[in-house]
Amino acid sequence: EIGIEARSDLRRIERPRLAAPGPDDHKYTRGYAALVAGEMLGAIALAAAAAARAGAGYVRLIAPQPLPGVPSAVVQSHGLEALDDERVDAVVIGPGLGKVGKGRDRFRRAFESGRPLVIDGDALALLAGQDFPRWRETPILTPHAGEFARLFGTLVGSKVEQAREAARRSQAVIVFKGSDTVVAAPDGRAAIAPPASPWLASAGTGDVLAGIIAAMRARGLEVFEAACAGVWLHGRTGAMAGPGLIADDLLSHLREALAECR
Ligand code: AMP
Ligand code: MG
Repeated sequence: EIGIEARSDLRRIERPRLAAPGPDDHKYTRGYAALVAGEMLGAIALAAAAAARAGAGYVRLIAPQPLPGVPSAVVQSHGLEALDDERVDAVVIGPGLGKVGKGRDRFRRAFESGRPLVIDGDALALLAGQDFPRWRETPILTPHAGEFARLFGTLVGSKVEQAREAARRSQAVIVFKGSDTVVAAPDGRAAIAPPASPWLASAGTGDVLAGIIAAMRARGLEVFEAACAGVWLHGRTGAMAGPGLIADDLLSHLREALAECR
């Protein structure tokens, strides 16, 4: 198995190099991430906080009402027309979105904005059971095993082979999550993360990952590299947070993890 995968160019996800902001930077050049809320507001609040802590210069949370517990630095508003602002570099949709009614409408609206999307949680369920749309910008899909099976059915082969096939079918970058997260791109690139802390098996950690990946995309990393960098940072914060971690704890370690990415 290792032989086959090595031949098809399987990378290990390594610590990314992330340039520090320079004197000519301003908040928008550092990346504008927008996040679309739905029904369960805690999930998207975590993702928004993560995007801000992962270094996006500007984070907007689009929610029906102001959410508590979100850093004051996160701009909160409720109109989806904010997605049409050309400065928006990445959009997170799916955490806590809801799978029916308004959730479906919000997802369609985010898709129609044509912005680079990070699609997680309920938005993955909305994509299941139909043909994948034609994306204007290659999105990043972040399924766990259950979401992956719902989206792609039962695929054969190793996790890497399955992720590659999923990326080919969806024409999206796939982050196939788990203890051994695999990232795959439609062009065949694939990478595998170092083993992550099993303490990450905890509610909300996936929402934090979506926010971190959005920040990486927003800062201008190429889409596959953004997914890999996000997975690395997330795993690193998991290791730093240690036993008994909850998703919120990952946020407080993001600065430390970022500091290692010089
Ligand atoms: P979600 O299932 O959407 O809440 O995302 C869970 C996050 O935790 C993902 O980043 C997974 O890769 C990670 N994770 C879940 N279970 C484990 C595990 N047993 N070991 C390491 N990482 C895990
Ligand atoms: Mg999740």
